[in-house]
Amino acid sequence: MKTKTRFAPSPTGYLHVGGARTALYSWLFTRHSGGEFVLRIEDTDLERSTQEAIDAIMEGLNWLNLDWDEGPHFQTKRFDRYNSVIDHMLENGTAYRCYCSKQRLEKLRETQIANGEKPRYDGHCRDQVDKHDINKPSVVRFRNPQQGSVIFDDMIRGPIKFSNMELDDLIIRRTEGSPTYNFCVVIDDWDMEITHVIRGEDHINNTPRQINILQALGAPIPQYAHVSMILGEDNKKLSKRHGAVSVMQYRDKGYLPEALLNYLVRLGWSHGDQEIFSLAQMKTHFSLGAVSKSASAFNTKKLRWLNHHYINHLPPEKVATYLSWHVEKQGIDTQGGPPLVEIVKLLGERCETLKEMAESCRYFYQELTEFDVDAAKKHLKQAAHQPLTIVAAKLAEIDEWKVEKYPQCITKHGNGVTNKYGKSRNATTCRGHRR
Ligand code: GLU
Ligand code: ZN
Repeated sequence: MKTKTRFAPSPTGYLHVGGARTALYSWLFTRHSGGEFVLRIEDTDLERSTQEAIDAIMEGLNWLNLDWDEGPHFQTKRFDRYNSVIDHMLENGTAYRCYCSKQRLEKLRETQIANGEKPRYDGHCRDQVDKHDINKPSVVRFRNPQQGSVIFDDMIRGPIKFSNMELDDLIIRRTEGSPTYNFCVVIDDWDMEITHVIRGEDHINNTPRQINILQALGAPIPQYAHVSMILGEDNKKLSKRHGAVSVMQYRDKGYLPEALLNYLVRLGWSHGDQEIFSLAQMKTHFSLGAVSKSASAFNTKKLRWLNHHYINHLPPEKVATYLSWHVEKQGIDTQGGPPLVEIVKLLGERCETLKEMAESCRYFYQELTEFDVDAAKKHLKQAAHQPLTIVAAKLAEIDEWKVEKYPQCITKHGNGVTNKYGKSRNATTCRGHRR
């Protein structure tokens, strides 16, 4: 059977690394077997969802090259569909109207808490279908089975069991007529023929409710896989406190999407002791069975190491296109200077990020207007004054800037070492005098 997975973000913020990893696993799982990937925007929370977040999420996925075959679907555009299913459920009795007042529900809650019970709806209206005035305000609840249990075999965590006793009758339509979150997810997964639901572990508790609803609808039950959390370097839940959490912030800091993807795939998944994975290798080797159940801590050092690897192993032309974004962002005009691909070849070895590389290549394109204060302190000492004056005078005499010429100016015997780009960095800071 063809697999179909989805990434279903709620557009309440940017695409963070946790979401990106979930999307990656979901994408890899389906791409591994030639299946399809759906993007679904879960925007039912009208107050918290924004167009800005939708754009940011898509920008993040695009940057990472995680392409989708279908969508983006928007839940807010599917309310008619959800409501027609709810109407149908009211007719066949798998859902019912609940007329309980806020006061009654609050009192129930207080009593349950006072008795040390978990607060839950008591099923008051479950069997009173005909006893109410249909025009009175009501919500619609799902008639959850009261006996038995829901067991699902999580593809990452193994069998998980919930007793139906723990699940109350979930509200699926609010008083003002809007369908609720868990219900929309169920209808979407059904309509979009999702075969595997791969998502964050924070949704484990929703799964038995969703399975019960799917069952009541006679819909196929997808397989589920719940991915563990990503922690910060301090082993606490990853949050803004830890600096960059948005995927696009990693671009801004000079990481390559290839490096971030490689980092994220290994953060909670392994294949022997291999560390470096091209996208093609990830697709070949990825399996949910090898995804870890425990949370993984983010490690910037390792990400930097991978980034350094990709800076030096991707085709330099490709790295140069990424670099051009950074160079432009730093306001460096590269016209009249060496092509960026040469910068990549020259500085790749000593840079871990493209931001660093863009900073370091400034002198190839601009006049030297600022000194590195620390370096100046270290090197511009009294003792350096005389040799530097001599070198400056000799350099000024050069009429043609040829690589062979300036070692003579700098070293006593004229056999000074030049860098592998074949130029001294001082020479290239002199505008208009490049070879
Ligand atoms: N919208 C949910 C979230 O952003 C994901 C729901 C799901 O994957 O089922 O956490
Ligand atoms: Zn009720």
